[in-house]
Order: sequence, then structure tokens, then C-alpha cells
Amino acid sequence: MLPVVALVGRPNVGKSTLFNRLTRTRDALVADFPGLTRDRKYGQANYDGYQFIVIDTAGVHGDEEGIDAEMAAQSLRAIDEADVVLFMVDARDGITAADMGIATHLRRLGKKAYVVANKIDGIDSNAARADFFELGLGDVHGIAAAHGRGVEQLLQECFDPL
Ligand code: GDP
Ligand code: MG
Repeated sequence: MLPVVALVGRPNVGKSTLFNRLTRTRDALVADFPGLTRDRKYGQANYDGYQFIVIDTAGVHGDEEGIDAEMAAQSLRAIDEADVVLFMVDARDGITAADMGIATHLRRLGKKAYVVANKIDGIDSNAARADFFELGLGDVHGIAAAHGRGVEQLLQECFDPL
């Protein structure tokens, strides 16, 4: 059985971009329109020698009503199926209320989650990462999913202890 990695986080943080990089497909919808990918999507990743199943999710908003509630439910199922949860945040935005809500949820579930600050290209990544320690989920991993920076180090952190 391959380990399962779930990508969770609010819309537009770069989950589908990372999914596409890990699976080397353009299948996951990547767009500037938040919340376009409405369902969980599974892919097989073989990246720098790490083989795993990756789940892309639609994203979780702060308030969960209507379609947002369905999207949140999808994310919760993905978290449930996962061995490793990558909780993605936008390094350029700092912590949002929605990020805080997701962090609280992950802490309650007690599932090991790695905080991944995406979009560190062109900004001070250490300063950006420091903001997210307040999420209370430990170390913050900086990546640029669109360019691949930091992705190999992230996978080492996730998988080498397994
Ligand atoms: P999702 O809603 O979480 O799946 O986010 P997407 O993968 O659709 O990405 C949302 C937007 O962020 C798109 O415009 C992406 O091109 C952009 N994006 C994703 N990763 C990066 C990155 O590493 N750097 C920058 N600058 N933009 C990114
Ligand atoms: Mg998406």
C-alpha cells in the first residue's frame, strides 16, 4: 500500500498546482477562481523517488454553508483517508480566519499535519514562514509549488520519518 497524502487548505493557496507538480499532470483545475475544483481528486505521485497517492481537495472556507459545506465535507473525508496531511497556506496572505479554523480542526483531529506555506517565490520566505507558527501546528515548510522550490525537502520531512 502506498502512503496517502491529502492536500487541504482554503481555496487559491495552490493545492491543485502542487497536485499537478507531484503527479505531473495538468488534470487538476488550476485557476484564479477560488473553489473551482469541487471534488476530491486522486493521483499517483512518483517524485524524487517518493511514491505515494495524493488527494487534491476543493478547499475549506471559514463559514461552511451550501456548496462550501459540501467542499468542507470532501476535505474532511480526504483527511480521514490520509496518512499525511499537507495543510497549505498562502505565504503572501499571512494567516486568515479560515486558516485558523482549519488549524483548530486539525489539532482536534490529532492527525499529523505539516504546515506548508506556498508562493514563497519572490518574497522573504523566513519572514513569511514565521507568521504561521501561530497556527500551533509546529514547523512551517516554505515552498513554491509553481516552480518546485522546497518540494523535495518537504517530501523528505514527511516521508523519511515514516
Ligand atoms: P487551489 O485553489 O488551492 O487549488 O489553488 P490553485 O492551485 O488553483 O492556485 C491558485 C493560484 O495561485 C493560481 O493562480 C496559481 O497559479 C497560483 N500559484 C500556485 N502556486 C504558486 C506559487 O508557488 N507561486 C505563485 N506566485 N503563485 C502560485
Ligand atoms: Mg484547486
